[in-house]
Amino acid sequence: MAFAITQTCCNDATCVSVCPVNCIHPTPEERAFGSTEMLYIDPKTCIDCGACTDACPVDAVFPVDSLPVDQREYADINAAYFERAGEEAPEADDLGPNFHAWSEPTFERVLPSDFGPLRVAIVGTGPAGMYAAEDLLLHTRADVTLIDRLPVAGGLVRHGVAPDHPATKRVGDAFARFHTHPRVRLHLGLEVGGDITAEELAAHHDAVIYAVGAATDRRLGIPGEERTGNVSATSVVAWYNGHPEVAPDAVALSAERVVVIGNGNVALDVARILVSDPETLAGTTIAPHALAELRRSKVREVVLLGRGDPEHAAYTRSELLALRHVPGVDLIVDDHDPRVGTTIDAAGPKEKAALLRGVARQPVDWSLPPGAAERRRIVFRFLSAPLEICGDEDIRGVRVTGADGEVEISAGMALRAIGYRGVPPAGLPFDDAAGTVPHEGGRVTGRAGTYVVGWIKRGPSGGIGANRACAAETVGTLLADVVAGVLPAPTGHPKSFHRLARRRRRH
Ligand SMILES: Cc1cc2nc3c(=O)[nH]c(=O)nc-3n(C[C@H](O)[C@H](O)[C@H](O)COP(=O)(O)OP(=O)(O)OC[C@H]3O[C@@H](n4cnc5c(N)ncnc54)[C@H](O)[C@@H]3O)c2cc1C
Ligand code: SF4
Ligand code: SF4
Repeated sequence: MAFAITQTCCNDATCVSVCPVNCIHPTPEERAFGSTEMLYIDPKTCIDCGACTDACPVDAVFPVDSLPVDQREYADINAAYFERAGEEAPEADDLGPNFHAWSEPTFERVLPSDFGPLRVAIVGTGPAGMYAAEDLLLHTRADVTLIDRLPVAGGLVRHGVAPDHPATKRVGDAFARFHTHPRVRLHLGLEVGGDITAEELAAHHDAVIYAVGAATDRRLGIPGEERTGNVSATSVVAWYNGHPEVAPDAVALSAERVVVIGNGNVALDVARILVSDPETLAGTTIAPHALAELRRSKVREVVLLGRGDPEHAAYTRSELLALRHVPGVDLIVDDHDPRVGTTIDAAGPKEKAALLRGVARQPVDWSLPPGAAERRRIVFRFLSAPLEICGDEDIRGVRVTGADGEVEISAGMALRAIGYRGVPPAGLPFDDAAGTVPHEGGRVTGRAGTYVVGWIKRGPSGGIGANRACAAETVGTLLADVVAGVLPAPTGHPKSFHRLARRRRRH
């Protein structure tokens, strides 16, 4: 029968260590780890023991014969990975700009008994901070101070992951177990660089790990960005997830057509939420104000604009597959450029573009409103770049390139979803071009005792599980520094820090 890994897999490799027959790949020791969209189970070796299902924090593993209808393709997707086993694994350089090549470890992992008590502060309670905390708590005797500027822990698991991905959100429960660990002090509502300074934090700890993520979004740099109705996916995502700093009325869904600029997974998340039947979202973690607005929504069509062809779209296969199963929603490919259809038709069965075979292809008259069809729709427009957000004060449309020349897609809302971007953490060096803090193996360049992990370290790409290997690298570097005796000694007492934190935090 065999088991199969499905859509919600976040690559954290927890299942690998529990599989008695080593049939889940790529493992963290294999070169392809970190470059595949998910892990896969070899159906020829799997002995159906179910250990991986119990271990998986996001309910991504099922016996093949009990796969839900909308996940059946995953039996083939898992098997197909092993059919390619003889092929040469890709070089890191071939994997595109979003791939982070992990440096080879330059240290031997030290044992907890190699050093005395250690006080480590971790700034940020998203996946990267929590994997670092878990590593320190399980493998050393360190005391950990966990800090987050928000009154709720979880980072993007809480305020990024879409509410209709409840299994993925459950990874937050696994992280939350460490909030009450006897060696952890958690301070929420405390901003480092605002409520307390980086120097105050460093003075009370042997080491500080910054896991502050990538809090803002990239700009398009085209005319009209200031027009009302041009918003960032960052704020829409935060709005529907009930982020405490985004006003309940921040998003108004009064437009019939929305143009989403970008076609990565965040773009697909936003498109899916905007066209889904709101009743399917009731009962999820969606913010009540967002659900109410979605119930009033006039949105009938979301256009996903991407510069590349269908083979080089930024979304992952699993997110596109999920989109094909949203009830009441049609997918359409805008046939404006013959190369789009050619790429889809010529794609081999394992190529990304092949997933759009069977999706209707038609030219779209963008000067017309979407129409009053019963069903809502998502239109993919590939090989097309935005030139201008048009209108007066409000948006009238988005002028874009294409094989049909420059056209204006009439729309009342434009949403840029072209990536997140790191914000310089107070007091740390910052690479403005990359939006990250420069580091060597996680150690901030030129700052003894200061480390980075997660999106602020390697840029805003990679799912939740990618932060686990990232945290292992950073914690490994930190422990090597402890053993080498290069950490500056703290001058303040732990108790005085916790008193300071309680006084300063916002309630
Ligand atoms: C919209 C969206 C949807 C996603 N969906 C998925 C998904 O379905 N599956 C998946 O595998 N991955 C998903 N990801 C990717 C995943 O969320 C990231 O890999 C992960 O959250 C990055 O972790 P991080 O800890 O570096 O940053 P974050 O999760 O952003 O955590 C950073 C934390 O630091 C805190 N912080 C920032 N500055 C300060 C400061 N000065 N003082 C104190 N605290 C501070 C923040 O409040 C935040 O809690 C998604 C990402 C986005 C943007
Ligand atoms: S069911 Fe058992 S043998 Fe099969 S992949 Fe999972 S852990 Fe491995
Ligand atoms: S989420 Fe983790 S444990 Fe679950 S299938 Fe993916 S790699 Fe395995």
